[in-house]
Amino acid sequence: LLSLRAATVRFGGRAVLDAVDLDVAEHEVVCVLGPSGSGKSTLLRAVAGLQPLDSGQVLLDGRDHRGVPAHRRGVGLMFQDHQLFPQRDVGANVAFGLRMHRVAKGERDAEVGKLLELVGLPGAARRAVAGLSGGEQQRVALARALAPRPRLLMLDEPLGQLDRSLRERLVVELRELFDRLGTTVLAVTHDQGEAFALADRVVVMRDGRIAQSGTPLEVWQRPADAFVARFLGFDN
Ligand code: ATP
Ligand code: MG
Repeated sequence: LLSLRAATVRFGGRAVLDAVDLDVAEHEVVCVLGPSGSGKSTLLRAVAGLQPLDSGQVLLDGRDHRGVPAHRRGVGLMFQDHQLFPQRDVGANVAFGLRMHRVAKGERDAEVGKLLELVGLPGAARRAVAGLSGGEQQRVALARALAPRPRLLMLDEPLGQLDRSLRERLVVELRELFDRLGTTVLAVTHDQGEAFALADRVVVMRDGRIAQSGTPLEVWQRPADAFVARFLGFDN
């Protein structure tokens, strides 16, 4: 589904993404781990078309989508600070993704209801965003990202602001949801437990490069080098 070929992004002469090659297969759930500043968010932004490459390619189904905005790429995005519109109700927030896709007004309400059910918030459309807990807001953000039924969903620290018990519960629910919808996922997290619970494959980044890519078990049992071993050992 997704291929990066020698994808490179430079800021001030420094390669923040350094000739990254990465393939994500249809229905695969891939988690990106790595220290702060290793280029994880830049990678997602590049795939979404929010960050132009200095060289290399991002291919979706083998096609270069340069200049094509995210919502026309079949790519959905959810950022850590989920950026809901606080003055609009839950339904309006979820419907935002549908409006971008020119779903007729009459169909939007039904679709919003379905999406809210999917993320475990049935009947919440008329609730005020400000009155929701952090976990509920996170679910609304997820429903909004899922609304256009993206083939590839990218999550940047999707559970970042939640406490551990809620994260642990949501991560299981998320995995079930992705399996049910057949969504391909590329997710950044700094939480190893989350990556290992969510991912078919884990990608560890270091200084804009991929230090290791493998199943959670492979990476855990056979770290590719001292950096990966240290990173896995010290983080949590
Ligand atoms: P974190 O875990 O802290 O979110 P990250 O792995 O997501 O880190 P990125 O946000 O991808 O890291 O940033 C990688 C590097 O690129 C950092 O050193 C950052 O300062 C730099 N960088 C990112 N965006 C820009 C920009 N627009 N201009 C200049 N430098 C940038
Ligand atoms: Mg980041």
